[in-house]
Amino acid sequence: MSGLTATRSATGTGTGPVVGPFTGAGAGGRVAAAAVSATKVYGAGGDTAVRALDDVTVEFPEGRFTAVMGPSGSGKSTLLHCLAGLDSLTSGRILVGDVDLSSLSDKQLTLLRRDRIGFVFQSFNLVPTLSAAENITLPLSLAGRRAEATWLDEIVATVGLADRLRHRPSELSGGQQQRVAVARALVSRPQIILADEPTGNLDSRAGAEILGFLRRAVTELGQTVVMVTHDPIAAGYADAALFLADGRLVDDLVSPTAATVLDRLKALGG
Ligand code: ADP
Ligand code: MG
Repeated sequence: MSGLTATRSATGTGTGPVVGPFTGAGAGGRVAAAAVSATKVYGAGGDTAVRALDDVTVEFPEGRFTAVMGPSGSGKSTLLHCLAGLDSLTSGRILVGDVDLSSLSDKQLTLLRRDRIGFVFQSFNLVPTLSAAENITLPLSLAGRRAEATWLDEIVATVGLADRLRHRPSELSGGQQQRVAVARALVSRPQIILADEPTGNLDSRAGAEILGFLRRAVTELGQTVVMVTHDPIAAGYADAALFLADGRLVDDLVSPTAATVLDRLKALGG
């Protein structure tokens, strides 16, 4: 197996779990992040144990927009949190670039998260006392770095926030707040942007805007995005879709559309 799903689907299989030995980047591309036999068990064991991730192996190639789909409780957030180093695996490995997260000290992990991972939450998670501009540059401020003016301008232009930069989050609509959160995720040019149901709290128009920005972040700015969603329309913005069920990777789709995603979800009983 190589290069996430593209190689598999190019062979016309398209069904069955995407699991197997980790073989490194496929198709000449580099891998932004990967999970290797990732297993996460919550609870002490016995009746209370929940196998939230069950032997998941997947690569996220650089410069690709991947949607992660699956029913509620299928392990989508757990996968994203483990990829971000916000949670740790019970067994298996997470690689960000060529760094194995389990090899890092707490301090090193904090720095890696700050510098190489952008996270977009469903609930925006902005700092209420800071302006939009200050929220966007917060990852850099924490690192004692200054924003690169051209990159910042590009991001602000991409998410269309130029006239809202002085506003506090409470003075912005939900859609505008999530645009700030997307800009914040982009500002340090992270290795990978992880977004957990980023449109879950937005109406369809604001949601479409956010999806458009994530799409442009990949197509025009060369970023890598992994987005959890349960919305087939949202998945249609991605280059590939993965399907989780009961913590296992059960299917994948290249160049998904809302219609093909819906068909696949029906076939999976979702
Ligand atoms: P999804 O995001 O696909 O809805 P999650 O990754 O949040 O699913 O959850 C996967 C499974 O793990 C669910 O059964 C959930 O109840 C369980 N789970 C998630 N987080 C915890 C936790 N902190 N403690 C115990 N169980 C958890
Ligand atoms: Mg979730």
